[in-house]
Formats: sequence, structure tokens, C-alpha cells
Amino acid sequence: MRVLDLLLPACCALCGHGGDPVCPACVRALPLLGGPACARCGKPTVMPVADCRECRGRRLGFEGAAAAVAFEGRGRDLVLRFKDGGLRGLASTSAGLIATVCPAPECDVLTWVPGDRWRTLRRGYHPAQELARGLAERWDVPARPLLAAAPLRRPQRGLDHTARRRNVRGAFRAASALTGERIAVVDDVFTTGATLSACAAALRKGGAGPVAVVTLARVVRM
Ligand SMILES: [Zn+2]
Ligand SMILES: [Zn+2]
Repeated sequence: MRVLDLLLPACCALCGHGGDPVCPACVRALPLLGGPACARCGKPTVMPVADCRECRGRRLGFEGAAAAVAFEGRGRDLVLRFKDGGLRGLASTSAGLIATVCPAPECDVLTWVPGDRWRTLRRGYHPAQELARGLAERWDVPARPLLAAAPLRRPQRGLDHTARRRNVRGAFRAASALTGERIAVVDDVFTTGATLSACAAALRKGGAGPVAVVTLARVVRM
């Protein structure tokens, strides 16, 4: 161990070298999004488009989706350390990253995809909620728990597109009566958009106005 490591014990959450919570080299290596994208589902495109191959013909409950990084390389590392690695301190870095890359959505209130209760208890925090709170501060919009999840929910992991959509059907409901508020739903990763679409649909059913979604990362298929 170098003497410097003793003096600066804080190390980067992604590579383990110097820099806390994420070192400059890892920040530079993040696969940032924020360029032209599909207006509906947020898939990065060469030019801005109204819809794309990924979302055409799909019913989506939300009206637009933005994400800060691609779910690959250091972007994937960041999400996994924050989500599964128990590194709650990455919430602030992650919210800052979203606020830098994504324009503030036109919304009256932010909310988040509800977490699995047991995982949240074990982890001690819920990543999507932490992100929403961090963004609320940065965008000066309140963050409120507007969604409730059915108690028994199979994880989406490992399911394909259709199975994911079926799995989340009826899984969420609006937790309180809404009166046309414009809402942005926050989550850690946009995979197929099935969960976020179900959340948006539940909010609309509960009386919300237009719903947009914002995530830290997005799975980008070529
Ligand atoms: Zn690093
Ligand atoms: Zn699209």
C-alpha cells in the first residue's frame, strides 16, 4: 500500500483507486447519454425522432423518457454499486449526474417506482427514492410517494419483454387521488420500460396528468 493511500483512504466506488465517491477517470469513462433520442422511449438515435423501432406499436403509459448514462461499462458499474452494493453515498453523485445530463422535466411533482419491501429493509434504503429526493432538491420540485405496489411481485430480472409487461400488469396503483398533476417517475434503470409504463398507467388511472420518466441508466440495444 502506498503512503498516499493511508493519507487518502477514500477510494473510488467504481475502480477502487483514489477519488471519492467516483474518481475523475471513472467519471470521464461514463457512457453519457443526453444526445438526440426517441421522444417517446428515450432510445438514443442519430437524429431526434418521434418514435423508434424499439417503441413503435407499443403502448407506453409515459410521454417521454430521459436517462443519464447507458447501462454498460462504468454506467453499469455505477448502477450496480448503488443498487446492489449498498453504497447509499452514490445517490447524490447519481442525482447530480442526472440533473447535469437530463433537462428538468416539466412536472409538478416527482415520484419513484416503489421498491420491494424486503430488499429495501435489507439494504437500508431504496435507490429510486434516493434519486427522486436528490432530484427534487436540484430541480426544486417536491418528491412524494404516489405509487403503491402489490405486496407480491416477481422480480423483473431474467424475464423477456412480453413476460415483463405481463408481470407488472396490475402491480401498481396510485397511492392517493390525483388531480391532473404532471408527474415524473424516477427509477434506477430503464430496461424495457415495462415497469415504468405500468407505473405511469397507474398514475394516469389515479387522475394524474401527463407522466414522464427519468432514470439514472438505460439499457441501449443496437
Ligand atoms: Zn474510479
Ligand atoms: Zn422509441
